[in-house]
Amino acid sequence: MSRYDHDLDGLADLLPGEPAFRARQLHDGLYRQLAQPDELSTLPVPLRRHLAALPELAPALELADARRADDGATDKWLFRLHDGAVVETVLMRYPRRATVCVSSQAGCAMACSFCATGQGGFGRHLQRGEIVEQVVRAARAAREEGRRLDHVVFMGMGEPLANYDRVLAAVRSIVVDIGIGARNLTLSTVGVVPGIERLAGEPLQVSLAVSLHAANDELRSRLVPLNRRYPLDTVRAACARYVERTHRRLSFEWALIAGVNDRTDDADELAAIARPLHAHVNLIPLNPTPGYLAVGSSAAAVRRFRDELDRRGVNVTVRATRGRDIAAACGQLAGSAGAGR
Ligand code: SF4
Repeated sequence: MSRYDHDLDGLADLLPGEPAFRARQLHDGLYRQLAQPDELSTLPVPLRRHLAALPELAPALELADARRADDGATDKWLFRLHDGAVVETVLMRYPRRATVCVSSQAGCAMACSFCATGQGGFGRHLQRGEIVEQVVRAARAAREEGRRLDHVVFMGMGEPLANYDRVLAAVRSIVVDIGIGARNLTLSTVGVVPGIERLAGEPLQVSLAVSLHAANDELRSRLVPLNRRYPLDTVRAACARYVERTHRRLSFEWALIAGVNDRTDDADELAAIARPLHAHVNLIPLNPTPGYLAVGSSAAAVRRFRDELDRRGVNVTVRATRGRDIAAACGQLAGSAGAGR
């Protein structure tokens, strides 16, 4: 248990004999003021000291490495957890918003062939508090620059829907406790169909991004091994039910790999899936990883692929890659730091 594993009732349990408003002050201090227990000037000094020493309120994350890129617009942090596992968090600053990309697992069991995290294997699920604290750290860093953190994407290490209950508990806390609008949260999945089905039933306006990367089973099973368990037809059907039931925005992520999934046939196949679902397609030129020899599509090939989708009536954007020079593709900083999971 760490400090962001507790809701208001849990914090009240840590304050026996104190009036109820103390728990509310502590809750407000941790989640809204983004403060440490010993910084809470609304609390009496002895209580502050007591809380700062409580193991239940210890931080979950210890900074192990920090790198800055894109002329200061991107920060990538490597955090060590209590058991030595490491996770990555990336803060991305844009002209009108700030987004944090959080990890939901230490490592990942999905083994996508082009992904540094997948190449490193699975460590463990993250707890709610370990996820929420990544958001708090980013929000605090943004606030120190006079900015507000307003978007959270679950696109760091791990498959969020494989850690469903803890991720959803973190999502609720980010929305209710920290106060970031659910519509500004995006959960990303490589196609965990039972998770998509469950998410469709949640009373939460979060966005769903499905990392497709290929729109035929033969290629997709090579890039995303989970496709053998949940082939494209089942993913597509789950997406259709999700859209029908929630009327929420659905997007497809497509990491463009030169000569692998950036051909005209790929655009045809992708358009055939995306258009009926009114899905938005995000193209991301692949960041190179040491364990995968293919390279990202050239700028010209990215433009051509985007235009092909556009001509086929697909809503498409090219996402600028962030932090290439600091190994910002998921899992690369952990790999380069030689950190075990
Ligand atoms: S791309 Fe995502 S789901 Fe696939 S191995 Fe990497 S972290 Fe896991």
